[in-house]
Amino acid sequence: MKMKTSITVARVKESKIKNYDFQNINFGSNTTDHMFISEYKNNEWRNPRIIPYQDVPFSPISLGLHYGQSIFEGFKAYKLIDGNISVFRPKKHFQRMNKSLKRMCMPLVSEDLFMSAIESLIQLEQNWVPNQNDASLYIRPLIIATEARLGVKISDEYLFMIVCMPMASYYNKNLKVKVETEFIRAADGGTGNAKCAGNYGAAFYPTQIANKQGFDQILWTDSEHHEFIEESGTMNVMFVIENKLITPAISNTILDGVTRDSIIKIAKDLGIKVEERKISYIELIDGFNSNVEIEAFGVGTAAVISPIECIDIKGKLFYPKISNDATYSILALKLSDIRTGKAEDLNHWNYIIKTSNDLN
Ligand SMILES: *Cc1c(COP(=O)(O)O)cnc(C)c1O
Repeated sequence: MKMKTSITVARVKESKIKNYDFQNINFGSNTTDHMFISEYKNNEWRNPRIIPYQDVPFSPISLGLHYGQSIFEGFKAYKLIDGNISVFRPKKHFQRMNKSLKRMCMPLVSEDLFMSAIESLIQLEQNWVPNQNDASLYIRPLIIATEARLGVKISDEYLFMIVCMPMASYYNKNLKVKVETEFIRAADGGTGNAKCAGNYGAAFYPTQIANKQGFDQILWTDSEHHEFIEESGTMNVMFVIENKLITPAISNTILDGVTRDSIIKIAKDLGIKVEERKISYIELIDGFNSNVEIEAFGVGTAAVISPIECIDIKGKLFYPKISNDATYSILALKLSDIRTGKAEDLNHWNYIIKTSNDLN
């Protein structure tokens, strides 16, 4: 048996949950009562602890603020229909976090530290996990370089934090997207497959231009040909063409999404043919022009599945199928049923948190 990392807990004097309106969840700045924090110094993660949610001090010369050693993760805790609280695939997120850390020359975190932190924090914040169908508690780990020193170098000190906030379900928010053929998100050999802060900052400008043109999101294309679809914002992208689920294969320019992986497994279990391969916007245009039924949707932890109702390709608009009996709707329902315990969790994706009732 592995030793569990011991995490000390300093509780708030009074929870702010009484003033929180779960009927009207407003995602963004309403964090829960507590946060996890640990400092990396002298080659080890120190003093892992849970403290009341609070601001943390940063030196203006913290390396992470200047040179971008900063990574994050995002996943969710759900209330199961049997009353248990489950975190969706935390170990998969843990593995991806360490991949991001490695790419950014940041110190890895042990599985034990990560899982102990999640377990303790969600145990403590269990009342913050919403009851409503498909609402969730969003969990955001982040690690940033904190060594106070100017000079372009790998930091020797870091801060690892985990914060949580309730999130409503995003049902029926259909997206209008634009295929981006000028700007890029990631190039071969770059950091596209790391969840590092800089990737998002660099995406804001082209996304802002698309927003001003009336689009919600960009569909990024490859950096070399500006032709092959990559992904979108913080979502991987999938198409259903002639009953086949087609999604760009994971590469070093595409983030290896946990939702993507889950949807692919569910689709295969349902007998849907899945192709992970390059897909060009020309193939999409050809499909639309020959009146083939096409579904398009984004998949990611935040919105889970976001149907795309309109795609701009080089100034021309195309309209994928939007329907409650479309393949994406079936896949979304199945994933939701697994996450909430209505369908059997054959792949063991739900990590059940021991709640106070189970503890002595
Ligand atoms: C987080 C993210 C995704 C989705 O990953 P999930 O694990 O499904 O949440 C996809 N693309 C990018 C760029 C992301 O940052």
